Amino acid sequence: MEHKGILVVVSGFAGAGKGTLMKNLIDTYDEYALSVSATSRQPRKGEVEGEHYFFKTREEFEEMIKNGELLEHAQYVGNYYGTPRAFVEEKLREGLDVILEIEVQGALQVKKLFPNSVLIFVMPPSAAELEKRLSGRGTETEEVINKRMHRAIVESAGIEKYNYVVINDDVKTCTEVLHGMIQAAKLTPKRQATFIKEVREDLRKMVKDIDD
Ligand code: 5GP
Repeated sequence: MEHKGILVVVSGFAGAGKGTLMKNLIDTYDEYALSVSATSRQPRKGEVEGEHYFFKTREEFEEMIKNGELLEHAQYVGNYYGTPRAFVEEKLREGLDVILEIEVQGALQVKKLFPNSVLIFVMPPSAAELEKRLSGRGTETEEVINKRMHRAIVESAGIEKYNYVVINDDVKTCTEVLHGMIQAAKLTPKRQATFIKEVREDLRKMVKDIDD
């Protein structure tokens, strides 16, 4: 069986509950590494440098782009967001599955770079539930909430480019479903090509031995 890690891209509208879901996935299973993004947006209350994000000025972020330190990057609601390349490459080499929680433009860049990556889109159970969750968070102004609802409409146009959709109504169930999707994605014939080749070759050798 192939043991090299798979790159998992998780997107979803702001307020779909991705953050909680990712945390639960990482806490439940030990084969996943969660990438920490860089961003030029201001930290929210309770956010920790290096844990939730690497917080950068716009100038520092642009320097990272210039130096090729980011695997992908995009602008979202006026701020830069990007995935530091080194961590992802290191963890994949170690055989861990790396999770990127990023928005649609970045996800599609990753799909181009890593065609074997698996793209999963987290949906809320309904539009009304999404609005409720966005308002309930209490950390954003009405203007930002409205911008994110509008952005959700725009992003929903990209959903068909993803491999799977998962509906986040119950975190525990959703975590199990997500884990199942990732494991299934690792077992496609394309990803198991080396293993399949090995078994075929061994079989041929064995049959030849019998013929001799
Ligand atoms: P927030 O500001 O709410 O933490 O994140 C806003 C959006 O940026 C979310 O959709 C989140 O998934 C996305 N995002 C976070 N990190 C990255 C990243 O490294 N690259 C890209 N393209 N999007 C990101």
